[in-house]
Parts: sequence; C-alpha cells; structure tokens
Amino acid sequence: MKNIIELDKTYVANTYARASVVFTHGKGSLLYDENGKEYIDLGSGIAVNAFGVADESYIEAVTTQLSKLQHVSNLYYTEPQATLAQMLCERTGMKKVFFANSGAEANECAIKTARKYSSDKYSTKARGTIITLTNSFHGRTLATLSATGQEAMHTHFYPFTEGFIHVDANDNKAMEEALLRDDVCAVMMELVQGEGGINVLDKEFVLNTVQKAKERDILVIIDEVQTGNGRTGSLYAFMQYGITPDIVSTAKGLAGGLPLGAILFGESTKDTLSAGTHGSTFGGNPVCAQGAVNILSRIDDELLAQVKEKSAYIFNELMGAKGVKSVSGLGLMIGIECTTPSPAIIEKCREMGVIVLASKNKVRLLPALNIPFDTLKKAIAILKDVIASFAE
Ligand SMILES: *Cc1c(COP(=O)(O)O)cnc(C)c1O
Repeated sequence: MKNIIELDKTYVANTYARASVVFTHGKGSLLYDENGKEYIDLGSGIAVNAFGVADESYIEAVTTQLSKLQHVSNLYYTEPQATLAQMLCERTGMKKVFFANSGAEANECAIKTARKYSSDKYSTKARGTIITLTNSFHGRTLATLSATGQEAMHTHFYPFTEGFIHVDANDNKAMEEALLRDDVCAVMMELVQGEGGINVLDKEFVLNTVQKAKERDILVIIDEVQTGNGRTGSLYAFMQYGITPDIVSTAKGLAGGLPLGAILFGESTKDTLSAGTHGSTFGGNPVCAQGAVNILSRIDDELLAQVKEKSAYIFNELMGAKGVKSVSGLGLMIGIECTTPSPAIIEKCREMGVIVLASKNKVRLLPALNIPFDTLKKAIAILKDVIASFAE
C-alpha cells in the first residue's frame, strides 16, 4: 500500500494541521483506520455525518437518486430540491429557500440578501453594514472571513470586503449602540458559537437584539451552519430561543455528509432575491437534496428527545469531573474546558480510540445524533479518564 500520509504531504496544499491517521471506512459512530484500528467518533466530521457513517437508509436514498439523475442545471426543476425546500419551510415557519454548497456560501447569500433588501427599500449604499459578534465564525471566503469576528483569521488577506462591525456576545449595551447606527442593514450571529469556544448566547441578549433590530427594520440573520439540523436538540437552535429570524443559513449536517447549504428566508426576505441576482451551478443538486430529505425526515421528536437525553448524560458525567473546569453547550454540541490544554487531550483520546475535536482552548464534542447510548458511555468514560490522567 502507498504511504498515504507521504503522498498527501507532497501533493495536497498544506492548509490543515492533520492528525496522523488515515481513515478508510466506518459504520455508524465507529471509524476504522488503515491498520484496522477502531475509533468511537465524537466529531462526526465536524457536525456533518448527522447519522454517522454508512447508514443504510441514507445510502439507499442517495444511491437511488444517483442512479436516476445525479445533476441537472438549476435552469430546470427537480423533485428532490422542491421537496426539501417544502420540508424546510413547513418545519421552521420560514417561507422560501435558496440552495448553496457549503456554510460559507450560505452566509455569502445571506449577506447579499440583507444588502439587497436594504438597497431595494432604502436605495443607494447607505445601509450596507452588518453587525456580527466577536469570536464568531462565518466562513473562509473573503466576505464571510470579513464577517468573522476573529482578528487572528484576518491577517494576510487584506483588503477585505467592507461593511462589517463586531460587537461582544452578550453585551446588550454595545449591541444596542451598534443597532442605532444608520448604516446598518443586518445583525448576524450564531446562537452557540461553534469555532469560538462553544459559547451559548444568553436568551435575554438574543431577545433584546432581535427586538431592537426589528424596531429599526434591521434584518436578523442566524448562522445555523453548525447548530442546525437537530444538533442542539431542536431542528434549528433559533426555535429554542423563540425568535423569528429574517434569514437562517445552514449547511454541515443538512445532507448528512454530502455538500449542501441552505438559506431560509422569512416573510420579509422571501422575494428579495430575484431572477439573475444570485445562483449556483451545484446548489441543491438532486443527490445532495435527496440525502437531506432522508436526514430531515429522521430528525423527529423522538430523535430530538434522545439528543437532549444524551446531552444531559454528558453534562452530568463531565461537570465537576477531575481536570474539568467547565462544560458549555446545547444538545450534542458541547465544549469542555480542562485544566490541561486541549491538543494533548485530543491526541491521547485518539490513541485510546476516541475522536474528539477542539474549539479554541476547549475539547469539543459533536457526536452523531443517533450515536448508540452504550457507545457514547464507553467513549465518555475514556475521555473522562484521559482528562483526569493529565490533571494528576
Ligand atoms: C463551519 C461553519 C461555517 C463554514 O462552513 P463551510 O461549509 O466550511 O464553508 C460557517 N459558519 C459556521 C457557524 C460554521 O460552523
């Protein structure tokens, strides 16, 4: 067998600090590497493999569509895309959907929509500014990187797309001040900051922001790329906050491992994008859309109740455990602050056959929504042991 790691290092651009493991296949929440070693996966490819790996019902849905029609231009209608859009709207109260291929692209579309909404209504360039939060993450394209409130990610790439200002999460006063500016068209936020350290926004801050924004016809964009699709214990996290966003963006878990992004428009924005103002060659591709129909139809009340139950189990096990400083998160999106820096813990866990992720200084867990309880228990026991072993 070729040395995959050598080959990759030689020919693949060096943008990822990859761990020294080559995964070859998996089943459910188990992954296997090229040496046949088994791992329990608590990362799901960063909240992507919503129902784990090689899930039979998903394979059936995707391959059936693949054998009929893998792609047709968005100049024509296809059934999977229309069905998926209907499902998304009926289950969220949103009104229309645009399909993209990734989270960053979904946010690009959200940004374009917000600016067009304001340009249609208030003309000219007067209202083009979008408020985002410090520590947010909205993507890697130039505009979404500009939107991302992490200075460290901005070096090297100037000049940036203009028109983004950042406010600290949960700072009501700073948000209210920003919302009073007359050049603002939208506020965009993650309700649980995924890359920024699994910070759950205060309900009071979110409700206040939404209320103040609506008073001034400033659009509310919720970035549910990571929190969406059952991850936090409701279909979308905004549903737990009791708010009605103008725009919701999502991707990651939506199509269970196939690339798909969606932008959900509310009443105010459903007709903002008109023919010719936006588009995508692959967006809403029939195979990806059919995968998403399969995933969404299985994220029902019973599954969401299990997500909450598993979440409570993880919180109970880890809060106050040796070496654990704090546990944050919502549903199966959990951050663990330890007394030891997370890279050492993550590496040790991998050695012990458990895959976990990082978010800032924390260990991040994003297991498959349907991870079996006994598998989860086994993995959490190992994680607890590893964290404790560093605290000795
Ligand atoms: C991952 C992520 C993105 C970017 O998604 P890509 O598919 O990598 O472009 C945007 N926003 C949030 C909140 C994310 O977690």
